[in-house]
Amino acid sequence: MTLRTGRHFLQIPGPTNVPDSVLRAMAAPVIDHRGPEFQKLTNRLLPALATVFRTRGPVVVFPASGTGAWEAALVNTLSPGDRVLCFETGHFATLWRTMAEALGLDVDFVPGDWRRGADPEVLAARLAADPAHRIKAVCVVHNETSTGVTSRVPEIRAALDAADHPALLLVDTISSLASIDYHHDAWGVDVTVAGSQKGLMLPPGLSFNAVSDKALEAAAAARLPRSYWDWRPVIEANRNGFFPYTPATNLLYGLEEALRLLAAEGLPAVFARHSRHAAITRAAVRAWGLEVLCADEREHSSSLTAVLLPEEHDADKVREIVLERFDMSLGSGLGRLAGKVFRIGHLGCFNDLMLAGTLAGVRAGLELAGVPLAPAGEDPTPELLRTA
Ligand code: PLP
Repeated sequence: MTLRTGRHFLQIPGPTNVPDSVLRAMAAPVIDHRGPEFQKLTNRLLPALATVFRTRGPVVVFPASGTGAWEAALVNTLSPGDRVLCFETGHFATLWRTMAEALGLDVDFVPGDWRRGADPEVLAARLAADPAHRIKAVCVVHNETSTGVTSRVPEIRAALDAADHPALLLVDTISSLASIDYHHDAWGVDVTVAGSQKGLMLPPGLSFNAVSDKALEAAAAARLPRSYWDWRPVIEANRNGFFPYTPATNLLYGLEEALRLLAAEGLPAVFARHSRHAAITRAAVRAWGLEVLCADEREHSSSLTAVLLPEEHDADKVREIVLERFDMSLGSGLGRLAGKVFRIGHLGCFNDLMLAGTLAGVRAGLELAGVPLAPAGEDPTPELLRTA
């Protein structure tokens, strides 16, 4: 085995690097999840968590990966055969669609080219063609982690409002929460789906549903089978500081520390940092002569950048070289983008010199893989870091 010195560069778009203080917070003795110390933890944690979603409503915490929170969003609000409108923005939107179908929902999947976000104009047209209000929910992936494209959720909300359509709005923020500006209440989102392993800077294992009053009303009438994912017993037990089943105690310790770090930096500063690192990454990629996958200037992701390679080059080969030579993990192309793109994660616990190291490693990996680039002397990263 090769000896690795220094830290591995985990530059996939989640799971992300976990801050040392979060790791230390989790390395505490396990406590009784039905005892007073745990009760105090929950009572501190849930209000702090709600501020990140920017909601005054409940946030349900599941000991599960993000996929579980997807399922929870659907089974708590919908009934068998309900029509839901989903947008083909990429791999994760496609997986959510597949899940909705498996659960017995009738999915209208708006086709997309995996380079753009959910189109508010297409939504407006679909809503106008639905005077009987058969569409019960609109599902949008805020930040499509497979493509580096961020959908314009406020414009999606505006289209629903303009049509005066009662469909619920379900939004996946798994790779945007705590990285890209987001407002559950102000944007009129009914269920926000999130996960621990990206902007929240935790290991995988927790996921979340922020829930509006309208979603809670829908939950009272929804008939899809649900048991483990049922919000109601969790919300009920949370009122008293507990959970209906064994919570992921030590991840919750980590969550409290991660929320403290986010509050100390301030969410506006967190978003500005992400957007600056994303802008520098795009500028570097373009200066190298390569193409960023996202095709709409309004929709660039601040969490990650997907880099499109010239057709004759294999993105997985570049990733392999970067891992072997520089001990850095980059995200692979998913689904129909396999081999065509690689993804640079620049979210979570990240700073300027980590970005400089990441871009230097990517550039060197591209050269070693024989991908034709603009001359090395033109690498703009140091200047961008000084001036951007
Ligand atoms: N949605 C998005 C946007 C994601 O990025 C992911 C995972 O990366 C998921 C859903 C699925 O989450 P998980 O892999 O935690 O189940």
